Amino acid sequence: MAANRTRRLAWLAGGACLVAILGGLYLTRGEIALAVTTRVADKAMATNLTKELPDGLHAVVCGSGSPLADTTRAGPCLTVVAGRRVFVVDAGEGSAEVLNSVGLSPGLVEAVFLTHFHSDHIDGLGALAMQRWVSGAALAPLPLHGPPGVESIAAGFNEAYRQDSTYRVAHHGAETVPPSGFGLTAQPFAEPGPDGKVVFEDGGVKITAFAVDHSPVHPAVGYRFDYKGRSLVVSGDTAKNAAVEKNARGADLLVHEALSPRLVAILREAAQKADRPNVAKLMADIPDYHATPQDAARTAQTAKVGALMLTHMVPPLRMRALEGPFLGNARRIFDGPLWVARDGDVVSLPAGGKDIDLKR
Ligand SMILES: [Zn+2]
Ligand SMILES: [Zn+2]
Repeated sequence: MAANRTRRLAWLAGGACLVAILGGLYLTRGEIALAVTTRVADKAMATNLTKELPDGLHAVVCGSGSPLADTTRAGPCLTVVAGRRVFVVDAGEGSAEVLNSVGLSPGLVEAVFLTHFHSDHIDGLGALAMQRWVSGAALAPLPLHGPPGVESIAAGFNEAYRQDSTYRVAHHGAETVPPSGFGLTAQPFAEPGPDGKVVFEDGGVKITAFAVDHSPVHPAVGYRFDYKGRSLVVSGDTAKNAAVEKNARGADLLVHEALSPRLVAILREAAQKADRPNVAKLMADIPDYHATPQDAARTAQTAKVGALMLTHMVPPLRMRALEGPFLGNARRIFDGPLWVARDGDVVSLPAGGKDIDLKR
């Protein structure tokens, strides 16, 4: 009996010690987490990527996803840094968060350029415009450039966010959030042809828009950015077509959308097996207005671009090992550097050279 009681007491004492140790560990882990959070917050608040990049043209992937749900990729968004100036092409869902995470405060964004008005390319606009306003104390609305139709996009977002804007001003004061800086202001340009048309030129930054083929979506454009002898082209959403090839001729970097028919077919067949005809029909329809990785590689090869980055991933690649099947033989078609974009990728084209540097 005495021996049993001794064993029980020893067991209880051991348990109490374990609880005390776990409690101590818990507190220690919490304290470590707080210390890490403090350091991360200090760094995040102080970081301004535009001050760390060399003079030149830079592409920052603020969203490499598509309309298909993908927890690892924000919706379509590419930020172009030219010198210290920050331009955003499309603003898909979650893109403002990616910008923040790479040290580009939305308050730094000078203007947004839309390629077309599919929901996945605009559904992050509200958050971007709001964050740009409140974090940058903007005095004027965010310019929203695009082909005809961009006016109603700007007006719609302004209307949807107007009530919130009054709460922000009431709470933080007009000096912190100047009412004049709320929202978006449409900057429509006449629809360009496939040959391209300069839609922005200022301080050595030239932006050319050109018509692409995303039928029945109309208008739909791509953009070419030129700055200090370096150039990059954003295809927008498009089936393979000559306009991208023509406007990308000799560019340092081509950022091209891509869809894998083979992988989309797997989703279509799964939808059929699950008796979801609507989803199956959608999966059957989408390949005809997008480009395959092979299409993009052919365009890059013919246009003789310096590098090709594939984005707007359809379908989402749940495993990194799927990049091989996604690309197929694209790497044999284009003989320059080719990779699948990931959110946060920064591609630098420093002025006065030929370098193409990828940081991820
Ligand atoms: Zn899209
Ligand atoms: Zn689209």
